[in-house]
Amino acid sequence: MSHLNKKTVDDLNARGKRVLVRCDFNVPLKDGVITDENRINGALPTIQKLIDDGAKVILCSHLGKVKNGPNEKESLAPVAKRLSEKLGKPVVFAADDEVVGPNARKAVADMQDGDVVLLQNTRFRPEETKNGEAFSKELASLCDIYVNDAFGSAHRAHCSTVGVTEFVAETAVGYLMGKELKYLGNAVEDPVRPFVTILGGAKVADKLNVIENLLSKADTLIIGGGMAYTFLAAKGYNVGGSLLDESKIDYCRDMLKKAEEKGVQLLLPVDVVIAEHFPEPIDAHVPTEVVDADKIPGHMFGADIGPKSRALFAEAIQKAKTIVWNGPMGIFENPVFANGTLAIAQAMAEADAVTIIGGGDSAAAVNTLGFGDKMTHISTGGGASLEFLEGKALPGIEAVQDK
Ligand code: ATP
Repeated sequence: MSHLNKKTVDDLNARGKRVLVRCDFNVPLKDGVITDENRINGALPTIQKLIDDGAKVILCSHLGKVKNGPNEKESLAPVAKRLSEKLGKPVVFAADDEVVGPNARKAVADMQDGDVVLLQNTRFRPEETKNGEAFSKELASLCDIYVNDAFGSAHRAHCSTVGVTEFVAETAVGYLMGKELKYLGNAVEDPVRPFVTILGGAKVADKLNVIENLLSKADTLIIGGGMAYTFLAAKGYNVGGSLLDESKIDYCRDMLKKAEEKGVQLLLPVDVVIAEHFPEPIDAHVPTEVVDADKIPGHMFGADIGPKSRALFAEAIQKAKTIVWNGPMGIFENPVFANGTLAIAQAMAEADAVTIIGGGDSAAAVNTLGFGDKMTHISTGGGASLEFLEGKALPGIEAVQDK
Protein backbone atom coordinates (compact mmCIF):
# COMPACT_ATOMS: atom_id res chain seq x y z
CA MET A 1 0.00 0.00 0.00
CA SER A 2 1.23 3.45 -0.85
CA HIS A 3 0.79 4.82 2.67
CA LEU A 4 3.20 2.20 4.00
CA ASN A 5 5.86 3.32 1.58
CA LYS A 6 6.21 6.95 2.62
CA LYS A 7 9.60 8.53 3.14
CA THR A 8 10.26 8.84 6.90
CA VAL A 9 12.60 10.91 9.08
CA ASP A 10 14.96 7.93 9.03
CA ASP A 11 15.41 8.39 5.27
CA LEU A 12 16.52 12.02 5.57
CA ASN A 13 19.96 13.54 5.61
CA ALA A 14 18.99 16.48 7.77
CA ARG A 15 22.31 17.75 9.15
CA GLY A 16 22.49 21.52 8.79
CA LYS A 17 19.15 21.65 6.98
CA ARG A 18 16.13 23.68 8.02
CA VAL A 19 13.37 21.13 8.72
CA LEU A 20 9.78 22.29 9.21
CA VAL A 21 7.85 19.75 11.29
CA ARG A 22 4.04 19.89 11.36
CA CYS A 23 3.21 18.62 14.86
CA ASP A 24 -0.09 18.07 16.58
CA PHE A 25 0.17 20.46 19.54
CA ASN A 26 -3.60 20.90 19.73
CA VAL A 27 -3.54 20.39 23.51
CA PRO A 28 -6.31 21.20 26.00
CA LEU A 29 -5.55 24.40 27.93
CA LYS A 30 -7.10 25.77 31.11
CA ASP A 31 -6.08 29.25 32.20
CA GLY A 32 -2.89 28.97 30.16
CA VAL A 33 -1.97 25.60 31.68
CA ILE A 34 -1.77 22.46 29.54
CA THR A 35 -4.08 19.88 31.12
CA ASP A 36 -3.09 16.87 28.99
CA GLU A 37 0.44 16.60 27.61
CA ASN A 38 0.02 13.41 25.59
CA ARG A 39 0.27 15.19 22.28
CA ILE A 40 3.47 16.98 23.26
CA ASN A 41 4.97 13.71 24.46
CA GLY A 42 3.90 12.07 21.21
CA ALA A 43 5.83 14.64 19.17
CA LEU A 44 9.12 14.30 21.11
CA PRO A 45 10.73 11.31 19.33
CA THR A 46 10.71 13.01 15.91
CA ILE A 47 11.92 16.34 17.32
CA GLN A 48 14.69 14.66 19.33
CA LYS A 49 15.82 12.63 16.33
CA LEU A 50 16.14 15.78 14.21
CA ILE A 51 18.01 17.61 16.98
CA ASP A 52 20.40 14.65 17.30
CA ASP A 53 20.89 14.68 13.53
CA GLY A 54 21.98 18.33 13.71
CA ALA A 55 19.00 19.75 11.84
CA LYS A 56 17.56 23.21 12.42
CA VAL A 57 14.17 22.18 13.76
CA ILE A 58 11.23 24.51 13.04
CA LEU A 59 7.92 23.38 14.53
CA CYS A 60 4.38 24.38 13.63
CA SER A 61 0.88 23.33 14.67
CA HIS A 62 -2.66 24.55 15.01
CA LEU A 63 -4.35 24.94 18.39
CA GLY A 64 -8.12 25.11 18.81
CA LYS A 65 -10.58 26.25 16.17
CA VAL A 66 -9.60 29.96 16.15
CA LYS A 67 -12.93 31.58 15.28
CA ASN A 68 -11.99 35.23 15.80
CA GLY A 69 -8.43 35.65 14.61
CA PRO A 70 -5.24 35.75 16.69
CA ASN A 71 -5.79 35.78 20.45
CA GLU A 72 -3.73 35.03 23.53
CA LYS A 73 -5.87 32.10 24.68
CA GLU A 74 -5.01 30.15 21.55
CA SER A 75 -1.35 31.10 21.42
CA LEU A 76 1.17 28.25 21.32
CA ALA A 77 3.37 30.09 23.89
CA PRO A 78 2.56 27.60 26.73
CA VAL A 79 3.55 24.72 24.42
CA ALA A 80 6.94 26.33 23.68
CA LYS A 81 7.62 26.59 27.40
CA ARG A 82 6.60 23.02 28.22
CA LEU A 83 8.42 21.65 25.19
CA SER A 84 11.60 23.43 26.20
CA GLU A 85 11.40 21.82 29.68
CA LYS A 86 10.85 18.39 28.17
CA LEU A 87 13.66 18.69 25.63
CA GLY A 88 16.01 20.26 28.17
CA LYS A 89 16.96 23.03 25.77
CA PRO A 90 15.61 26.40 24.64
CA VAL A 91 12.67 26.50 22.25
CA VAL A 92 12.51 29.93 20.65
CA PHE A 93 8.87 30.99 20.25
CA ALA A 94 8.28 33.17 17.19
CA ALA A 95 5.22 35.10 18.33
CA ASP A 96 4.02 36.52 15.01
CA ASP A 97 0.27 36.80 14.61
CA GLU A 98 0.84 36.27 10.89
CA VAL A 99 2.81 33.08 11.81
CA VAL A 100 5.51 33.66 9.19
CA GLY A 101 6.46 37.20 10.18
CA PRO A 102 9.61 39.15 11.14
CA ASN A 103 10.11 37.21 14.40
CA ALA A 104 9.88 33.86 12.67
CA ARG A 105 12.20 34.91 9.84
CA LYS A 106 14.80 36.29 12.22
CA ALA A 107 14.58 33.30 14.58
CA VAL A 108 15.11 30.91 11.67
CA ALA A 109 17.96 32.97 10.21
CA ASP A 110 19.72 32.92 13.61
CA MET A 111 19.44 29.15 14.09
CA GLN A 112 22.46 26.93 14.73
CA ASP A 113 22.37 23.20 14.00
CA GLY A 114 20.25 21.42 16.64
CA ASP A 115 18.27 24.56 17.58
CA VAL A 116 14.49 24.52 17.90
CA VAL A 117 11.99 27.25 16.92
CA LEU A 118 8.20 27.04 17.35
CA LEU A 119 5.95 29.13 15.11
CA GLN A 120 2.66 30.66 16.26
CA ASN A 121 -0.71 28.84 15.84
CA THR A 122 -1.10 28.21 12.09
CA ARG A 123 -4.84 28.90 12.32
CA PHE A 124 -4.09 32.51 13.22
CA ARG A 125 -3.90 32.75 9.43
CA PRO A 126 -7.41 32.44 7.96
CA GLU A 127 -5.95 30.93 4.75
CA GLU A 128 -4.62 27.93 6.70
CA THR A 129 -7.88 25.96 6.60
CA LYS A 130 -8.51 27.00 2.99
CA ASN A 131 -5.16 25.62 1.85
CA GLY A 132 -4.28 29.05 0.41
CA GLU A 133 -1.19 29.24 -1.78
CA ALA A 134 0.42 32.39 -0.33
CA PHE A 135 0.63 31.06 3.24
CA SER A 136 1.76 27.65 1.98
CA LYS A 137 4.62 29.36 0.13
CA GLU A 138 5.54 31.44 3.18
CA LEU A 139 5.79 28.30 5.32
CA ALA A 140 7.83 26.58 2.63
CA SER A 141 10.20 29.57 2.41
CA LEU A 142 11.39 28.84 5.97
CA CYS A 143 12.64 25.33 5.26
CA ASP A 144 14.56 22.88 3.08
CA ILE A 145 12.68 19.78 4.24
CA TYR A 146 9.09 19.31 5.46
CA VAL A 147 8.05 16.57 7.90
CA ASN A 148 4.42 15.80 8.73
CA ASP A 149 3.97 14.23 12.17
CA ALA A 150 0.41 15.42 12.82
CA PHE A 151 -1.79 12.38 12.25
CA GLY A 152 -4.72 14.09 13.99
CA SER A 153 -4.79 16.69 11.19
CA ALA A 154 -3.94 14.39 8.27
CA HIS A 155 -7.56 14.18 7.12
CA ARG A 156 -7.59 17.91 6.40
CA ALA A 157 -6.01 19.57 3.37
CA HIS A 158 -4.63 22.73 4.97
CA CYS A 159 -1.59 24.91 4.18
CA SER A 160 0.50 23.35 6.94
CA THR A 161 -0.49 19.77 6.11
CA VAL A 162 -0.82 19.75 2.31
CA GLY A 163 -0.26 23.11 0.58
CA VAL A 164 3.28 23.57 1.90
CA THR A 165 4.44 20.23 0.43
CA GLU A 166 4.09 21.59 -3.11
CA PHE A 167 6.81 24.14 -2.50
CA VAL A 168 9.37 22.07 -0.58
CA ALA A 169 11.86 19.81 -2.36
CA GLU A 170 11.89 17.00 0.18
CA THR A 171 9.07 15.69 2.38
CA ALA A 172 8.71 12.86 4.90
CA VAL A 173 6.50 11.56 7.70
CA GLY A 174 7.55 11.66 11.36
CA TYR A 175 7.66 8.76 13.81
CA LEU A 176 4.19 9.36 15.27
CA MET A 177 2.63 9.41 11.82
CA GLY A 178 4.67 6.36 10.87
CA LYS A 179 3.37 4.49 13.89
CA GLU A 180 -0.24 5.34 13.04
CA LEU A 181 0.26 4.17 9.46
CA LYS A 182 1.93 0.99 10.57
CA TYR A 183 -0.73 -0.05 13.07
CA LEU A 184 -3.95 1.38 11.67
CA GLY A 185 -2.83 0.87 8.08
CA ASN A 186 -1.67 -2.70 8.54
CA ALA A 187 -4.69 -3.62 10.61
CA VAL A 188 -7.11 -2.49 7.96
CA GLU A 189 -5.16 -3.46 4.83
CA ASP A 190 -3.38 -6.62 5.86
CA PRO A 191 -4.65 -7.88 9.23
CA VAL A 192 -3.52 -11.08 10.91
CA ARG A 193 -6.77 -13.04 11.06
CA PRO A 194 -9.21 -13.49 12.65
CA PHE A 195 -9.77 -9.73 12.38
CA VAL A 196 -12.43 -8.50 14.79
CA THR A 197 -13.68 -4.93 14.75
CA ILE A 198 -15.87 -3.37 17.39
CA LEU A 199 -17.94 -0.28 16.70
CA GLY A 200 -19.93 1.73 19.20
CA GLY A 201 -20.77 5.33 19.94
CA ALA A 202 -23.90 7.28 19.50
CA LYS A 203 -25.13 7.27 15.93
CA VAL A 204 -25.12 4.95 12.92
CA ALA A 205 -25.08 8.01 10.66
CA ASP A 206 -21.61 9.01 11.91
CA LYS A 207 -20.10 5.69 10.91
CA LEU A 208 -21.89 4.55 7.73
CA ASN A 209 -18.71 4.35 5.69
CA VAL A 210 -16.76 2.73 8.50
CA ILE A 211 -19.37 -0.02 8.81
CA GLU A 212 -19.34 -0.60 5.09
CA ASN A 213 -15.55 -0.67 4.74
CA LEU A 214 -15.05 -2.91 7.76
CA LEU A 215 -17.70 -5.33 6.51
CA SER A 216 -15.51 -5.97 3.51
CA LYS A 217 -12.37 -6.43 5.61
CA ALA A 218 -13.24 -7.98 8.98
CA ASP A 219 -14.10 -11.56 9.92
CA THR A 220 -16.31 -10.38 12.78
CA LEU A 221 -18.00 -7.01 13.22
CA ILE A 222 -19.34 -6.27 16.70
CA ILE A 223 -21.80 -3.42 17.05
CA GLY A 224 -22.72 -1.92 20.42
CA GLY A 225 -23.45 1.49 21.91
CA GLY A 226 -26.24 3.76 20.78
CA MET A 227 -25.82 2.72 17.15
CA ALA A 228 -26.80 -0.90 17.90
CA TYR A 229 -30.47 0.02 18.36
CA THR A 230 -31.00 0.96 14.74
CA PHE A 231 -29.63 -2.46 13.80
CA LEU A 232 -31.94 -4.10 16.36
CA ALA A 233 -34.85 -2.15 14.89
CA ALA A 234 -33.79 -3.39 11.43
CA LYS A 235 -34.17 -6.93 12.78
CA GLY A 236 -37.75 -6.04 13.70
CA TYR A 237 -37.24 -5.54 17.44
CA ASN A 238 -39.05 -2.86 19.38
CA VAL A 239 -36.30 -0.67 20.88
CA GLY A 240 -38.53 1.51 23.09
CA GLY A 241 -37.02 4.94 23.69
CA SER A 242 -33.47 3.91 22.69
CA LEU A 243 -31.39 6.00 20.31
CA LEU A 244 -32.76 5.31 16.84
CA ASP A 245 -31.85 6.65 13.40
CA GLU A 246 -35.10 5.88 11.64
CA SER A 247 -33.77 7.00 8.29
CA LYS A 248 -30.98 4.44 8.60
CA ILE A 249 -33.07 1.34 9.35
CA ASP A 250 -33.03 0.26 5.69
CA TYR A 251 -29.28 0.83 5.56
CA CYS A 252 -28.82 -1.40 8.61
CA ARG A 253 -31.02 -4.07 7.03
CA ASP A 254 -28.78 -3.96 3.94
CA MET A 255 -25.69 -4.30 6.11
CA LEU A 256 -27.14 -7.31 7.93
CA LYS A 257 -27.81 -8.90 4.54
CA LYS A 258 -24.38 -7.99 3.21
CA ALA A 259 -22.69 -9.52 6.26
CA GLU A 260 -24.58 -12.75 5.69
CA GLU A 261 -23.65 -12.83 1.99
CA LYS A 262 -19.98 -12.20 2.73
CA GLY A 263 -19.83 -14.66 5.60
CA VAL A 264 -18.91 -11.92 8.06
CA GLN A 265 -20.11 -12.59 11.57
CA LEU A 266 -22.08 -9.49 12.66
CA LEU A 267 -22.70 -9.52 16.40
CA LEU A 268 -25.34 -7.32 18.02
CA PRO A 269 -26.27 -7.09 21.71
CA VAL A 270 -28.48 -9.98 22.85
CA ASP A 271 -29.35 -8.23 26.10
CA VAL A 272 -29.21 -4.64 27.27
CA VAL A 273 -29.13 -2.52 30.42
CA ILE A 274 -32.15 -0.24 30.33
CA ALA A 275 -33.35 2.78 32.24
CA GLU A 276 -36.40 4.99 32.21
CA HIS A 277 -34.72 8.37 31.99
CA PHE A 278 -31.45 9.62 30.55
CA PRO A 279 -29.23 10.39 33.59
CA GLU A 280 -29.10 14.09 34.38
CA PRO A 281 -26.29 15.00 35.03
CA ILE A 282 -24.77 12.24 32.97
CA ASP A 283 -23.14 10.48 35.95
CA ALA A 284 -26.21 10.64 38.22
CA HIS A 285 -27.35 7.32 39.66
CA VAL A 286 -30.46 5.94 37.93
CA PRO A 287 -32.31 2.65 38.51
CA THR A 288 -31.54 0.03 35.84
CA GLU A 289 -32.78 -3.35 34.63
CA VAL A 290 -31.39 -5.96 32.29
CA VAL A 291 -33.63 -7.36 29.55
CA ASP A 292 -33.17 -9.37 26.35
CA ALA A 293 -32.59 -7.13 23.35
CA ASP A 294 -36.06 -7.93 21.90
CA LYS A 295 -37.87 -7.13 25.17
CA ILE A 296 -37.18 -3.42 25.69
CA PRO A 297 -40.39 -1.90 27.12
CA GLY A 298 -41.76 1.08 25.20
CA HIS A 299 -41.09 3.58 28.00
CA MET A 300 -37.47 2.54 28.58
CA PHE A 301 -34.23 2.82 26.60
CA GLY A 302 -31.05 0.82 26.20
CA ALA A 303 -28.00 2.50 27.73
CA ASP A 304 -25.42 -0.32 27.80
CA ILE A 305 -24.93 -3.88 26.61
CA GLY A 306 -25.98 -6.56 29.12
CA PRO A 307 -23.98 -9.44 30.71
CA LYS A 308 -24.83 -12.02 28.01
CA SER A 309 -23.68 -9.59 25.31
CA ARG A 310 -20.47 -8.87 27.22
CA ALA A 311 -19.70 -12.59 27.32
CA LEU A 312 -20.61 -13.04 23.65
CA PHE A 313 -18.44 -10.15 22.52
CA ALA A 314 -15.55 -11.17 24.81
CA GLU A 315 -15.61 -14.67 23.33
CA ALA A 316 -15.16 -13.29 19.81
CA ILE A 317 -12.40 -10.96 21.03
CA GLN A 318 -10.54 -13.85 22.69
CA LYS A 319 -10.31 -15.68 19.36
CA ALA A 320 -9.03 -12.67 17.43
CA LYS A 321 -5.49 -11.95 16.24
CA THR A 322 -6.20 -8.34 15.23
CA ILE A 323 -8.76 -6.13 16.99
CA VAL A 324 -9.76 -2.58 16.14
CA TRP A 325 -12.20 -0.74 18.41
CA ASN A 326 -13.94 2.60 17.95
CA GLY A 327 -16.77 3.92 20.10
CA PRO A 328 -18.08 3.04 23.58
CA MET A 329 -20.67 0.28 24.23
CA GLY A 330 -22.92 2.47 26.34
CA ILE A 331 -23.18 5.72 28.25
CA PHE A 332 -19.79 4.94 29.78
CA GLU A 333 -19.60 8.35 31.49
CA ASN A 334 -22.02 6.86 34.05
CA PRO A 335 -20.68 3.97 36.20
CA VAL A 336 -23.97 2.03 35.98
CA PHE A 337 -23.66 1.99 32.16
CA ALA A 338 -19.88 1.56 31.90
CA ASN A 339 -19.67 -2.22 32.29
CA GLY A 340 -20.01 -2.98 28.58
CA THR A 341 -17.20 -0.61 27.64
CA LEU A 342 -15.11 -1.92 30.53
CA ALA A 343 -15.67 -5.54 29.43
CA ILE A 344 -14.46 -4.77 25.89
CA ALA A 345 -11.37 -2.97 27.20
CA GLN A 346 -10.63 -5.87 29.53
CA ALA A 347 -11.13 -8.55 26.88
CA MET A 348 -8.86 -6.64 24.52
CA ALA A 349 -6.22 -6.21 27.23
CA GLU A 350 -6.23 -9.98 27.80
CA ALA A 351 -6.33 -10.98 24.13
CA ASP A 352 -3.28 -12.45 22.44
CA ALA A 353 -3.69 -10.08 19.52
CA VAL A 354 -2.69 -6.78 17.98
CA THR A 355 -5.08 -4.38 19.74
CA ILE A 356 -5.82 -0.96 18.30
CA ILE A 357 -8.02 1.80 19.66
CA GLY A 358 -9.32 4.14 16.98
CA GLY A 359 -9.12 7.40 18.90
CA GLY A 360 -11.83 9.68 20.28
CA ASP A 361 -14.06 8.54 23.11
CA SER A 362 -12.82 4.96 23.15
CA ALA A 363 -9.23 6.14 23.58
CA ALA A 364 -10.33 8.32 26.52
CA ALA A 365 -12.36 5.43 27.98
CA VAL A 366 -9.46 2.96 27.74
CA ASN A 367 -7.09 5.42 29.40
CA THR A 368 -9.56 6.34 32.16
CA LEU A 369 -10.27 2.68 32.85
CA GLY A 370 -6.52 2.06 33.22
CA PHE A 371 -6.00 -0.22 30.20
CA GLY A 372 -3.99 2.26 28.14
CA ASP A 373 -0.65 0.50 28.44
CA LYS A 374 -2.20 -2.90 27.66
CA MET A 375 -3.07 -1.95 24.08
CA THR A 376 -0.75 -2.28 21.10
CA HIS A 377 -1.70 1.14 19.76
CA ILE A 378 -4.03 3.96 20.76
CA SER A 379 -4.54 6.27 17.82
CA THR A 380 -3.96 9.97 18.44
CA GLY A 381 -6.48 10.99 15.78
CA GLY A 382 -10.27 10.92 16.27
CA GLY A 383 -11.56 12.08 12.90
CA ALA A 384 -8.40 11.02 11.07
CA SER A 385 -8.50 7.47 12.39
CA LEU A 386 -12.19 7.17 11.50
CA GLU A 387 -11.46 8.26 7.94
CA PHE A 388 -8.64 5.76 7.83
CA LEU A 389 -11.07 3.04 8.96
CA GLU A 390 -13.41 4.19 6.20
CA GLY A 391 -10.65 3.28 3.78
CA LYS A 392 -10.18 6.89 2.67
CA ALA A 393 -6.85 8.27 1.55
CA LEU A 394 -5.85 11.04 3.96
CA PRO A 395 -4.62 14.16 2.12
CA GLY A 396 -1.88 14.91 4.67
CA ILE A 397 -0.39 11.46 4.07
CA GLU A 398 -0.91 11.40 0.31
CA ALA A 399 0.99 14.69 0.01
CA VAL A 400 4.20 13.22 1.43
CA GLN A 401 6.74 11.74 -1.01
CA ASP A 402 7.19 7.99 -1.34
CA LYS A 403 10.55 6.43 -0.52
P1 ATP B 1 -15.29 10.26 18.60
O1 ATP B 1 -16.27 10.75 17.58
O2 ATP B 1 -14.76 11.31 19.51
O3 ATP B 1 -14.27 9.33 18.06
P2 ATP B 1 -16.72 7.98 19.43
O4 ATP B 1 -16.80 7.63 18.00
O5 ATP B 1 -15.88 7.12 20.30
O6 ATP B 1 -16.16 9.41 19.61
P3 ATP B 1 -19.41 9.00 19.66
O7 ATP B 1 -20.07 8.58 18.42
O8 ATP B 1 -19.02 10.39 19.88
O9 ATP B 1 -18.17 8.01 20.01
O10 ATP B 1 -20.38 8.56 20.84
C1 ATP B 1 -19.97 8.54 22.16
C2 ATP B 1 -21.13 8.90 23.02
O11 ATP B 1 -22.19 7.98 22.79
C3 ATP B 1 -20.80 8.82 24.49
O12 ATP B 1 -20.91 10.10 25.02
C4 ATP B 1 -21.85 7.88 25.06
O13 ATP B 1 -22.42 8.34 26.26
C5 ATP B 1 -22.91 7.85 23.99
N1 ATP B 1 -23.65 6.58 23.99
C6 ATP B 1 -23.15 5.35 23.91
N2 ATP B 1 -24.13 4.43 23.99
C7 ATP B 1 -25.28 5.10 24.12
C8 ATP B 1 -26.63 4.70 24.26
N3 ATP B 1 -26.97 3.42 24.29
N4 ATP B 1 -27.55 5.66 24.36
C9 ATP B 1 -27.20 6.96 24.33
N5 ATP B 1 -25.94 7.40 24.20
C10 ATP B 1 -24.99 6.48 24.11
